[in-house]
Amino acid sequence: MFIEQTIGVAPKATKYDGRRRNLQLALQHVYREGLTTRAEISRLTGLTRATVSDLVAELVTGGLVKEVGPGTSSGGKPPTLLELDPTGRQIAAIDLSRRPFRGALVDLQGGIPHRITGRRGSRRGASALREVFALAEALVERSSAPLLGIGIGTPGIVDLDGSVAEAANLDWHGVQLAREIAERFDLPVEVANDAHAAALAEFGSRPVVNLALVKVGIGIGAGIVVNGELYRGDRPAAGEIGHIRVVEGGARCTCGNTGCLETVASVPNIIRRAVSLAGIDASAESLPWRASELEATVGGDALGEAIATAGRHLGAVLAHLVAILDVHRIAIAFELEGADQPFLEAVGSALAARILPSLASLVEVSVATHGPDLVLAGAAALVLREQLGVVWQ
Ligand SMILES: [Zn+2]
Repeated sequence: MFIEQTIGVAPKATKYDGRRRNLQLALQHVYREGLTTRAEISRLTGLTRATVSDLVAELVTGGLVKEVGPGTSSGGKPPTLLELDPTGRQIAAIDLSRRPFRGALVDLQGGIPHRITGRRGSRRGASALREVFALAEALVERSSAPLLGIGIGTPGIVDLDGSVAEAANLDWHGVQLAREIAERFDLPVEVANDAHAAALAEFGSRPVVNLALVKVGIGIGAGIVVNGELYRGDRPAAGEIGHIRVVEGGARCTCGNTGCLETVASVPNIIRRAVSLAGIDASAESLPWRASELEATVGGDALGEAIATAGRHLGAVLAHLVAILDVHRIAIAFELEGADQPFLEAVGSALAARILPSLASLVEVSVATHGPDLVLAGAAALVLREQLGVVWQ
């Protein structure tokens, strides 16, 4: 379901003419109610019956809303019931935060009728860009309904025009991603930082106005929703917590500094630390991101210690975020499969020990929704918000 609240940056003024706004209003109502009638839309939106009839005709013709038979009569002719047609449009969503990259076709209710995985191996620079083109092309070809647009969640700092200013893990600097994809496929394209996109998906799943979503994978980043809006910051680089120094004189980070949070708490570095603690001869890069298999290789003690250390460092950083913003809902997307519980415990206790006790009792650290599809759901939500003005709920 969707709600009428829109979040994030203001859509471009040209998209917001009166008719479009009224169409969005009517559509939002259908999303929210599930099953409704023209009269109900008119009553609840304040639009005249004639206007609503006209708008609904356009939504039905456009395949977004369908008529599903007669409702209950209150005297005269029974009204026609209306509901959303979830299959009326699809969104091509792409997640560049994982290796290999992933893509999916997402319907209007968040269903995933088709998914694809990119080629194996770590792709950077021009090779990574070609892989994105290939994924987008495959999704466009496989779509079974008109596409609303292409949504992409990528690591790094993403400008408001959808260009990737800096993504160290992909070796991208000033890549005009949204423009290049839009020109190639002639579709609306939305690009956002992966954690920002994930925060949108998480916000859509929770009835709260403030939340922080923390994504811990190859890198570490947060997406912050304040007063129901994604907070992106001046650069915009809000939530780039992975490069806060947590260890003086620590290891060299991909950003050039030393002792960053990522050097001790990213999943690859947790695995490296576990291998080192176990004192075994294994390549951390070749090990799976699954707790059960890792435990069989490095032992429970080494893995537990590496996860707890990472959680403590992240909790210490999040204490600042909670103290500054007074945000009580922290959702964690930890990509080391099967290790949520020990990681969240370590994060929660380190966080609670560093803030006002009365505040600590209000803070809830939980596992993020959507599992491995979190960024895909967020990328689809971006397109939905921009094109239809509605947010998943
Ligand atoms: Zn760094």
